[in-house]
Amino acid sequence: MNAPHLKSNSTKQWQDKDSAHLLHPFMSHPDLRKKGARIVTGAEGVYIFDSEGNKILDGMAGLWCTQIGYGNEELVEAATNAMRQLPYYNLFFMTSQPYAIELAAKIAEKAPGNIDQVHFATSGSEAVDTAYKLIKYYWNLKGQPQRKQFISRDRAYHGSTTVAASLCGLTGMHPQFDLPIEGIHHVSPAPYYFENGGDLTPEEFTDVCVKAIEDKILEVGPENVAAFVGEPVMGAGGMIPPPPGYWKKVEAVCRKYGIIMWCDEVICGWGRTGEWFGSQYFDIEPDIITMAKGLSSGYQPISAVAMGGDLAKTIRDGDEEMVHGFTYSGHPVACAVALKNIEIMERDNLIGEGAKDRIDYFQEQLASLSDHPIVGETRGLGFLGAIELVKDKKTKERFEVEGSDAGFICREHCFNNGLVMRSVGNTMILSPPIIITKDEIDELVTKARRALDLTAKDLG
Ligand code: PLP
Repeated sequence: MNAPHLKSNSTKQWQDKDSAHLLHPFMSHPDLRKKGARIVTGAEGVYIFDSEGNKILDGMAGLWCTQIGYGNEELVEAATNAMRQLPYYNLFFMTSQPYAIELAAKIAEKAPGNIDQVHFATSGSEAVDTAYKLIKYYWNLKGQPQRKQFISRDRAYHGSTTVAASLCGLTGMHPQFDLPIEGIHHVSPAPYYFENGGDLTPEEFTDVCVKAIEDKILEVGPENVAAFVGEPVMGAGGMIPPPPGYWKKVEAVCRKYGIIMWCDEVICGWGRTGEWFGSQYFDIEPDIITMAKGLSSGYQPISAVAMGGDLAKTIRDGDEEMVHGFTYSGHPVACAVALKNIEIMERDNLIGEGAKDRIDYFQEQLASLSDHPIVGETRGLGFLGAIELVKDKKTKERFEVEGSDAGFICREHCFNNGLVMRSVGNTMILSPPIIITKDEIDELVTKARRALDLTAKDLG
């Protein structure tokens, strides 16, 4: 499939122009220049198409975001209609518009607990920065201005603006930009049982992880701590579902010390775990949630911060102007697309009971890969999956690959065999569109096994 509206160039011409002018996110540009970018020209359902005519099953839903798949005409129509009716207007100066109003109400309806206030932004990172600022503002309004310390976790990913990158526990993100900023603390170990669990049972490991959070709060001084932030399931850090009971215990610790509990649901929100939000999956009620990606299935850049309880009430009822917001907060076209996206998820039963059968099948098929000689573990929940690559299944010893990772090799084999599977070090990650069918799951797992075979051959 070609992109007919684009000037018809050859792959090579696009690659050369790309190398000449485009700075990519998270990219080694010398590597890119050497190899040339894969040029993606179109997409339909769960597939993307490249400029060489390859059809590739997108096991990552773009960047964990195209929940309802590509090429959905209803979203195109929603965007077109909104663009005709109200292509832009802002929410400043005592104005509002129906698209933002309806979407805020819809988010409040779907969100867990008593969440009822919503502020819009365009990216996940902006939502994270917004949450960070509003939590600080809250504590200022509460007369506790010393509560400015934020607790995050090793391996966390919260985005790439200055605050969001500082909250990340992926330390490679810090030195280039003199980060992290002050007042951010990262707790170890990450709740990553395969890597950090050692001889402990999963339940014992839960207690170790939760104690590390409580110890950090006590070290910083509970009266100084503003919030604890965490992704319900760690995403970019390696698709790491927490060990059993972890979130209920973390919630109890936050409540014990009166600390704001902030769930960053940029990945987990909007059906990724099988529930509307990851916090509902783990049966917790955060004070504040950041979301993006699946909110519009990635068709429009839109994110939101949603909050409830005293946090929301204090900010909403503060006498002074809340001096924060963006030109594109609540953009009408983005809100229209998000509203239609949520309507489709509801109508087509893509979340909850309606997804259960396909989720069970996806998890079963994923687990079937655990017999592969280089697979140390498969794990997953909802439409999320991970495969750990190891040299030795018993000892979990990893492959040593000069200048690279086993995961990178496997990722290349996937791509060359018609599957997008992302790698984080030695971990392969799956997060397909949540509309994926059982036949497409079979295709995904068959292609994943072939890529594992080829990786084993390369490393053997
Ligand atoms: N928070 C989480 C949990 C994420 O996974 C991401 C992106 O992957 C972000 C925040 C940042 O979102 P964005 O890339 O839209 O700024």
